[in-house]
Amino acid sequence: MRLPIIAGNWKMNTTLKEAVALVREMQNKLESIKGVEKVVCPPFISLAAVADLLKNSSIQLSAQNMYFEEKGAYTGEISPVMLAGLCQFVILGHSERRHYFGESNELVNKKVKAALKAGLKPIVCVGETLEQREAGRTEDVVTTQTRGALDGIAASADIVIAYEPVWAIGTGRAASGEAANATIVIIRETLARLYGSNIAQARRIQYGGSVTAENIAEFLKQSEIDGALVGGASLKANEFVSMVEQTAAIKGVR
Ligand code: PEP
Repeated sequence: MRLPIIAGNWKMNTTLKEAVALVREMQNKLESIKGVEKVVCPPFISLAAVADLLKNSSIQLSAQNMYFEEKGAYTGEISPVMLAGLCQFVILGHSERRHYFGESNELVNKKVKAALKAGLKPIVCVGETLEQREAGRTEDVVTTQTRGALDGIAASADIVIAYEPVWAIGTGRAASGEAANATIVIIRETLARLYGSNIAQARRIQYGGSVTAENIAEFLKQSEIDGALVGGASLKANEFVSMVEQTAAIKGVR
């Protein structure tokens, strides 16, 4: 039984004040929803304040990125050690990091190793661009990204994978539930080749890309999809709560 996980990636949105207000707006309703892991991912500058609000909460906190070194002369970067006291999760290899900031599979792999060493659970994003999809390269891309991110990582590592086709992120053009499920099957087969089928069956794989309260059920009804990484729609308290409620109803672990 895989515990479904819904994570809200706020990206570069919300001031400190707005972040605190958004958590306050949804906290009570989210606390009462059981059988789903609920994660919010505010910008770095709001993590400490949100962590304070979420003390003794069932809502988990995630960073959106981090560097792989523990400390030193890396101006502007945030280290895994800094996040470890605040967050449970960290998103790594998001396509916006890969495309705007040139993050390679090798860099993502270093970050995954550093996150695990610091006791953080990585949410590792993989996904193909439209060009790659149209060229029939989806399988090759997600397999290479998955293998690249997990190179040298132990089977026991607690990692969530988010399958996020790049063409579906922030475009309002989500994949169909069936197409997302089919690619997630390929990712699970890659995990099985790396770690064996028991581990592959136990790992959680989310779908991400224009998920909303209106379409989330289509993804949750698929056998291989264990929740969603939600961007834009996670900034609306009611919509995020609705997505978590639907997840509990369709996939919640009792
Ligand atoms: C994301 O940021 O990971 C994402 C999937 O964004 P959106 O839901 O806005 O497409």
